[in-house]
Amino acid sequence: MTKIVVVGAVAGGATVASQIRRLDQDSEIVVFEKDRDMSFANCALPYYIGNVVNSRDHVLEATPEQFYSKKHITVKTYHEVTAIDDANSKVIVYDKKAEQSYTVDYDKLILSPGCSANNLNLNSPISFTLRNMEDTDAIYQFIEQNHVQKALVIGAGYISLEVVDNLYERNIDTTLIHRSEHINKLMDADMNQPILDEMDKRNITYHLNESVTKVIGNEVYFKSGRIEQFDLIIEGVGVKPNSSFMKSSQLNLDEHGYIPVNDKFETNIPNIYALGDIITSHYRHVDLPAHVPLAWGAHRGASIIAEQIAGNPNIRFKGYLGSNIVKFFDYTFASVGVSPKELEHFDYKSVELNQYDHAGYYPNKNKIHLRVYFDVSNRRIIRAAAVGKSGVDKRIDILSMAMMHHSTIDDLTDFEVAYAPPYSRPKDIINMIGYKARNL
Ligand SMILES: Cc1cc2nc3c(=O)[nH]c(=O)nc-3n(C[C@H](O)[C@H](O)[C@H](O)COP(=O)(O)OP(=O)(O)OC[C@H]3O[C@@H](n4cnc5c(N)ncnc54)[C@H](O)[C@@H]3O)c2cc1C
Repeated sequence: MTKIVVVGAVAGGATVASQIRRLDQDSEIVVFEKDRDMSFANCALPYYIGNVVNSRDHVLEATPEQFYSKKHITVKTYHEVTAIDDANSKVIVYDKKAEQSYTVDYDKLILSPGCSANNLNLNSPISFTLRNMEDTDAIYQFIEQNHVQKALVIGAGYISLEVVDNLYERNIDTTLIHRSEHINKLMDADMNQPILDEMDKRNITYHLNESVTKVIGNEVYFKSGRIEQFDLIIEGVGVKPNSSFMKSSQLNLDEHGYIPVNDKFETNIPNIYALGDIITSHYRHVDLPAHVPLAWGAHRGASIIAEQIAGNPNIRFKGYLGSNIVKFFDYTFASVGVSPKELEHFDYKSVELNQYDHAGYYPNKNKIHLRVYFDVSNRRIIRAAAVGKSGVDKRIDILSMAMMHHSTIDDLTDFEVAYAPPYSRPKDIINMIGYKARNL
């Protein structure tokens, strides 16, 4: 019987274990998780803090007992894999409760350990990071028990923006600070203005080019010299890969500690696969490496690894497109393709439009600002970004599908939209981008 060992029991780990079981009833599957919980919905955590998702059971999707009884998969929480002995196909596991280590053999090893939140070492009981269910419970209880009125969110990546939105939903007076002016980095910098406008509209204070130097009690000291009292601090200051335990092995890691994998999610060592936030791979539409630490990639990786192990070698990863989206109050910000920084690898042009999402005479119309970048050498679309109050997700998903098929900017004129006044216009903004590009 094949023995499959999985490291990490959340998005990638729990999903790969389930997918393998779907295709193979016989293998022994053991999943090790260093923390308390398995299979929670990371993406739901900010919304649970905001009481928008109001049931904890909806966030915590499975327990080890359920996994075993439904799928015959063993999940061991509070068990940390501390080393890999790839020469002998073994891992060393530390049982945190029993406070002892032991060795486990594997035939196939699958790594999905994700990343950990960076923190600013503020050494303050009012300061938290948000990465898992334990963090979420701690923040939730702290808010309730201390009747939090005033919160500081440090950092302006997509998770921090979601946290600000959700704390506001709970009537907590929230301040956002960010160390530079470039907030929400996945987006074109000049398309982020509605983030600031949305905060202005709600009297949410924000300070750019600002950082915290120390915290004493409830007093927060800022680089600018300002001192202010807060009840709660949430730090969203980036992540680091959970790959230090791999250094005992011959696994190749890149200079940042991520694992490069091939199109079967294989690492450089036979029988060791990796997926999720820990990997680097490649883009689908252009010839560049890609690191896209988001949920879709973890789920796609899980499915492909399961197919590989089940003996279907032709089901392979075709690459990322980098699709991402975030809601910030009334606005949606989304993009697909190479990052704004990676555009430097191309001779590119862009076409942009501000157009209503549906017919101008039909109620509740909103403008979408859509920008599409193309490679001048072959006119293929390489990136698109959109912002607006409605219809943004649809346009970015359409462009993602277009990029999947290497469409050119001119092909967008041919996109046949499902039109009726509440949904679109006979010439959708996607078509109009194509028409406008003909002048370039
Ligand atoms: C608050 C939040 C909101 C998010 N929102 C979105 C969103 O809206 N859309 C989106 O696409 N993505 C979102 N993401 C990102 C998404 O959750 C990740 O891309 C996804 O969870 C990655 O899956 P993973 O398996 O690589 O890592 P994780 O899901 O983080 O799981 C890794 C697990 O491995 C465990 N582990 C690590 N090292 C070891 C070890 N040595 N031994 C045993 N266990 C170990 C960790 O404790 C962890 O539980 C969000 C993430 C967070 C934190």
